Amino acid sequence: MIPKQGRTADDVLAELATKSAGDADWRGGRVFSLVYHAGDEHEQLLRRAHAMYASANLLNPMAFGSLRSMEREIVESTVALFSGPRAAVGTVTSGGTESILCAVAAYRDRAKRKKPWLMRPELLAASTIHPAFDKAAHYFGVKLVKVDVGPDFRANARAIEKKISRRTIAIVGSAPQYAHGVVDPIEELGRIAQKHGVPLHVDACVGGFILPWLEKLGRAVPRWDFRVPGVTSISADLHKFGYAGKGASVLLWRTLEDMRNQIFVATDFPGGIYASPTMLGTRPGGPIAAAWAALHALGETGYLALSKQAADAADRLRVGITAIPGLALQGRSDSTIVAYEAHGVSIYAIADRLEARGWTVDRQQRPSSIHLTVTANHAAIVDDYLADLRAAVDEVRGDPKLASSGTAPMYGMAAKMPVRGLVARNVRNMIAKMYAPESAP
Ligand SMILES: *Cc1c(COP(=O)(O)O)cnc(C)c1O
Repeated sequence: MIPKQGRTADDVLAELATKSAGDADWRGGRVFSLVYHAGDEHEQLLRRAHAMYASANLLNPMAFGSLRSMEREIVESTVALFSGPRAAVGTVTSGGTESILCAVAAYRDRAKRKKPWLMRPELLAASTIHPAFDKAAHYFGVKLVKVDVGPDFRANARAIEKKISRRTIAIVGSAPQYAHGVVDPIEELGRIAQKHGVPLHVDACVGGFILPWLEKLGRAVPRWDFRVPGVTSISADLHKFGYAGKGASVLLWRTLEDMRNQIFVATDFPGGIYASPTMLGTRPGGPIAAAWAALHALGETGYLALSKQAADAADRLRVGITAIPGLALQGRSDSTIVAYEAHGVSIYAIADRLEARGWTVDRQQRPSSIHLTVTANHAAIVDDYLADLRAAVDEVRGDPKLASSGTAPMYGMAAKMPVRGLVARNVRNMIAKMYAPESAP
């Protein structure tokens, strides 16, 4: 309830601090993929920059020229990082999903402008594509055609080429895909895209702000950015390896002509002519200011150091995991993402035992595995994680009943159920229950 009488700021803030104490321990490195933490000092900077712009609104760029210029600087910096041409442009969005929604809507409209007869637009991608594209396709009446990946989990470019038709609005490749951290063959996809005159979007949401630094550190990174001919747009999340505060991503276009399709205009509103380049109406200033602050406070040397820490930690985890009998890595990751599976023991039971030891675990399916998005903040926990993992595997091996208790059977069944509609219904019910009024019977 909204209190009758307002409370003091100290009182409210104290309660927030108490509330957050029960959340997962991301500062301690026990959480993967949800938070990208670059240390307490950096976090303080993000908070302060965010707070300075907490009420500012980029809906009207004339009123908030400072935010507009920060957006421009973020875009220009990112274009340079991705070796884009001088003509490249883009917007800052609230996250990877928004960048992807904008890209898919723009490609649909681009196709419809060129081919007004187009009734069932199709987007082509590998089966490992992020679900934000399923969401975009669902929202915008686009059919997402998914092509199976090979045993290396990379997009099968030739199989994708075979699916190109007059309905194709764009091809999508990932750099890297989230589940196994492998970069799709973007150069091959670029050649195919150019040959057929189809746009190519690269989803570098998780990779955009680490792959360039890994490459500068001398690691082998397949080409994926604007250096690849045929790449027409790129999404990349500042709030992942950009170590920005939450709510910041970029969507970049090779040319302004391509970006034009992203701009929405409503002319009949009594409140005035309304134009907006992204999904959001009101555009919060805090995340943009915090992202700008992150780029400037860390600088190239900061990002190189953080990327090296993350890459070394990922390497140590890979070596440690491979040394545990019964575990094996999934795919040859091009990034600091690590995915591993289990043989002869239940990976989901191992996940439960890791959770019992205080880790927040990301479970995957098809094939079943555990996923680690390794950041600089995980350098300090590698040994603890491996020790707990070894103990978890021993525990599950020593007690086969663990595979049929806890959450393991539920994940196992959900992964195997052939009727995916049923899975969707069950999960939808779970989420609905989470939102049901607490007083309901
Ligand atoms: C995180 C991610 C997204 C979606 O980004 P959000 O910021 O979670 O909306 C899209 N693609 C890939 C590869 C990602 O890792």
